Amino acid sequence: MAHDAQGRIPAQTFITQFVTGKIDNGNVTKLVQEPILRPVRLAKGKDDLYYTPDWHRASRVEAALIFMTGKISEKKCDRCAKNLRPFASCVVSDVAGRGACANCHSDSRGAHCSLRHEAAQAGGKSSMWRFIASFY
Ligand SMILES: [Zn+2]
Ligand SMILES: [Zn+2]
Repeated sequence: MAHDAQGRIPAQTFITQFVTGKIDNGNVTKLVQEPILRPVRLAKGKDDLYYTPDWHRASRVEAALIFMTGKISEKKCDRCAKNLRPFASCVVSDVAGRGACANCHSDSRGAHCSLRHEAAQAGGKSSMWRFIASFY
């Protein structure tokens, strides 16, 4: 898939080529209903060339949809802070990835994303508060 000189792939082009009729699972169904906030934008590697992922893996396509529809994290996850790839920002979604960023999800490393761990801890805290509150 051709990206432009800034590493961008227009969202609609990406969806037509790699999503519609090609990948059909729960995450993709939910993600394509979200408003698109930005095009796919690839990061540059050390050789100064943009990453060109193989889009025939469901996790990569889901990750691209997370990137297009999610929130750019104020603080990059540990992996993105070291090496941002294949996408140019660390983006998380409320609808898929369970708090892991698009870059970690893309490599099937979502379970190791530091942002997912932080989200899980925050969730754990609030459910503990509910537990405590239920005693009063
Ligand atoms: Zn990240
Ligand atoms: Zn991550």
